[in-house]
Amino acid sequence: MKTCSKCKIEKNITDFGMHKKALKTYHYKCKICTNIDLKIKDKPILDIVDLPDEIWVEVKGYEGLYEISNMCRIKSLKKVFLSKNKTTNDN
Ligand SMILES: [Zn+2]
Repeated sequence: MKTCSKCKIEKNITDFGMHKKALKTYHYKCKICTNIDLKIKDKPILDIVDLPDEIWVEVKGYEGLYEISNMCRIKSLKKVFLSKNKTTNDN
């Protein structure tokens, strides 16, 4: 068992992906969290239309920013730019 650094949930080792270059080295994030991060970086979905029976929960580590559904879709609750390191003070 291994605890995911992101969702802090203890999971089976098979729930963690392995690094491609370093053999026998597992990601510190579980597959679900890795997938979430990839999706968020890729294109957060704005103004997503809920499907019937779709249930949304907050994404661990992104509370108030993103929600993930039971259908593995991710929506952005507000426009955020996590990847930008530029700090702009518009106060
Ligand atoms: Zn996780």
